[in-house]
Amino acid sequence: MTTILERTPTLQTKLPAVGTTIFTVMSTLAAEKGAVNLGQGFPDFECDPQLVNAVTDAMTKGLNQYPPMTGVPVLREAISAKVAKLYSHTYDANTEITITAGATQAIITVILAVVHPGDEVIVLEPCYDSYVPNIELAGGKVVRVPLTPGTFRPDFGKISAAITPRTRAIIVNSPHNPSATVWTEADMLALQDLLAPTDVLLISDEVYEHMVFDAAKGRIHQSAARFPGLAARAFIVSSFGKTYHVTGWKVGYVAAPAALTAEFRKVHQFNVFTVNTPVQYGLASYMADAQPYLGLPAFYQRKRDLFRDGLAKTRFKLLPSEGSYFQCVDISEVSDLDEAEFCKWLTTEIGVAAIPLSAFYGNSFDQRVVRFCFAKKDETLNTALQRLARL
Ligand code: PMP
Ligand code: GLN
Repeated sequence: MTTILERTPTLQTKLPAVGTTIFTVMSTLAAEKGAVNLGQGFPDFECDPQLVNAVTDAMTKGLNQYPPMTGVPVLREAISAKVAKLYSHTYDANTEITITAGATQAIITVILAVVHPGDEVIVLEPCYDSYVPNIELAGGKVVRVPLTPGTFRPDFGKISAAITPRTRAIIVNSPHNPSATVWTEADMLALQDLLAPTDVLLISDEVYEHMVFDAAKGRIHQSAARFPGLAARAFIVSSFGKTYHVTGWKVGYVAAPAALTAEFRKVHQFNVFTVNTPVQYGLASYMADAQPYLGLPAFYQRKRDLFRDGLAKTRFKLLPSEGSYFQCVDISEVSDLDEAEFCKWLTTEIGVAAIPLSAFYGNSFDQRVVRFCFAKKDETLNTALQRLARL
């Protein structure tokens, strides 16, 4: 009898700096400690039953086989019409819109499609945690430019200084996770001017496009689609998970000029091929009513205000929350711990989970700020506020 050697080869990691994401770490700790989870960004309430019905109908009708690689035409057409109405730019539904398995897949696919080994990609820190590993997997060089500490506004002098002949793309995210800031028209115009003489692509992560607050102050979502000079070089990424309270469904899309979309689809067809059919049909029919997304700012603004009113009674210093479903607070008056230790302490001892902003920086930059997610039932927010009232 021959002995079988059970030998598992040793791997050389492609992502030496990567461990488990902070969102998973904090959600696991929150569950273990019975804490209210205001860490990971996802709603704890149900989506509209009509949306579930629309998806169920599609399944019942037998729409359960592979859809077209680019997404079902009715959904692409619905997105094209909506973007044209909201942002005055018409994307061709056939050649310029592709349905993706959420924004995460959209972003990595864009990066794999356009970034060659050695190309530089600018990220504005703090930034969403998938961008940097995505660039590294493509063999690109990450160029980190800080948003201004304290205000998180873009510093166009610094961005300009970071652009070189090797710069392939810049990733912009507004409304912004984690800082909850929203780029203004002036910011977008400045970006447009800056990129005009270059071949730098824009990857515009707009997953929180329908969560922009204080419209009375003139604040609106400044999609890159509104700016012709940006739209011509942009991959615009959005996600139905955020807009319709279905983060677990993982459906989003990319809108980009036909030439950019053609390259995107070359990679898309081999990394996901297609996205689940009945959800696409369900979303397409649900989108016929604009009210669910047009009503979203008011829906979340009320929750933001409820949460802010409660936090105002603590020693946390509130930062502005202009958009997204996040609220950042300065912890200096509450604790001497660093952000990450503070979040663990808050989860364990006070029973409320938060996310340290240091998790969104390559060098774990600590500015004594943590992020809460207020996409929660009022009762969840009230329970969290009662616990935080001790601080
Ligand atoms: N970008 C940002 C800024 C996000 O906050 C998220 C949500 N976690 C994503 C992308 C990913 O979205 P999705 O869940 O659709 O993959
Ligand atoms: N976007 C969410 C957040 O920032 C969750 C993302 C995730 O779990 N990967 O909290």
